[in-house]
Amino acid sequence: MRLTRYFLPVLKETPSEAQIVSHRLMLRAGMIKQASAGIYSWLPLGYKVLRNVERIVHEEQQRAGHIPMLMPTLQSADLWRESGRYDAYGPEMLRIRDRHERDLLYGPTNEEMITDIFRSHVSSYRDLPMTLYHIQWKFRDEIRPRFGVMRGREFLMKDGYNFDVDYESAIHAYNRHMVSYLRTYERMGLQAIPMRADSGPIGGDDTHEFLVLADTGESEVFYDAAITDLKFGDRKVDYDNRDECAEIVKEWTTPYARTDETHDEAIFNQVPEERRRTSRGIEVGQIFYFGTKYSEPMGATVVNREGQHVPVHMGSHGIGVSRLLGAIIEASHDDNGIIWPEGVTPFHCGIVNLKQGDAEADRACEQLYDALTAKGLEPLYDDREERAGAKFATMDLIGLPWRITVGPRGLKNGVVELTSRKTGESEELSPEVAVARVAEIYGK
Ligand code: ATP
Ligand code: MG
Repeated sequence: MRLTRYFLPVLKETPSEAQIVSHRLMLRAGMIKQASAGIYSWLPLGYKVLRNVERIVHEEQQRAGHIPMLMPTLQSADLWRESGRYDAYGPEMLRIRDRHERDLLYGPTNEEMITDIFRSHVSSYRDLPMTLYHIQWKFRDEIRPRFGVMRGREFLMKDGYNFDVDYESAIHAYNRHMVSYLRTYERMGLQAIPMRADSGPIGGDDTHEFLVLADTGESEVFYDAAITDLKFGDRKVDYDNRDECAEIVKEWTTPYARTDETHDEAIFNQVPEERRRTSRGIEVGQIFYFGTKYSEPMGATVVNREGQHVPVHMGSHGIGVSRLLGAIIEASHDDNGIIWPEGVTPFHCGIVNLKQGDAEADRACEQLYDALTAKGLEPLYDDREERAGAKFATMDLIGLPWRITVGPRGLKNGVVELTSRKTGESEELSPEVAVARVAEIYGK
């Protein structure tokens, strides 16, 4: 993409309404624009990152054997009356009436709808286990929408639902989700710690939240520092292997890590003092096992191996896709702007032309652009007639992990400069080697 042909409305001023750094940077980098309280338009740069986050979520869900689908945003109130949640949910639910006086709602979550789909089509244990998921906009009429996309009213969530014949297989689904979430967040350059949590209005016994440590997080968290040393890495996991998944879950749930809702001072005090940490965290996901809470009232049963009709065991599993952008920025930025992890960056690399209009510099930039593109990479070429300082400031603000700087002086010596956004370190390389280096970083 050439910057002169792109739509990147960066702001010079720091927007006064934004209280936290991720919100400020998303506005300044031209990623989002507020449409009304807690509701945002995703401008091209923000939309690109959102799609990258979504893609990683899809890939990791499908790696774990979960099946993608799409349910509507609007739901019938009658379904929610069956589970008893229509009245129980409270003012966070946006209720709508259509022209035929039928009650609808903008879905805050989809347990009822997925249970209805399941009961209409599945009746035997032979079709199980099954996990269906979608990535769809949700609406919750939050009393205090704030921090930009972090606590929106309309927000994008991945929500998945497992269906299993008995408790043991449902717990395997729970474990499988925890494992796949660990890999998902790591691919986004995040450390998200699973913490024992409270189940809230979804209900159920077993639940973990995934928290990214950040001073601006809304939850107070208590943990054993040992957990921050754990790395998922690129282990090969057989997601159907119950023991293997259970082992990984054990690894991550043995060190103490809880939110304030479930914190237990007595247990915490057994952690060696030098490893006890209190901090704040951003909830980027949550998994639940809730058994037959919905299948029983809604009549979602299957015939088990013994020929009996039993209510299906379920769980639900959410990832805050749009919130993740805020969380990633909170975890990765400096005074000059965002520092995108390579896994989610909107463009792989920036090209800065120090002397636009200089025939040789222009030609070198075009060649770099083509060579990077030919490798399957997406560069952002700042081809504006601007001072070098302004171009660097824009690149730093929007946070591309790598920048290639091209100027007449370097070209005389046959070199361009490759700079890491994270460390600020630069290297002079021939254009060919710079392209090869960037391609290698992205595994292209
Ligand atoms: P919270 O405690 O932050 O209100 P929740 O526990 O009600 O969230 P879940 O039902 O667990 O949310 O939803 C799954 C994920 O969706 C959350 O872990 C979070 O990342 C994201 N999420 C929830 N509410 C919002 C919101 N208002 N704006 C953006 N993302 C949200
Ligand atoms: Mg939650």
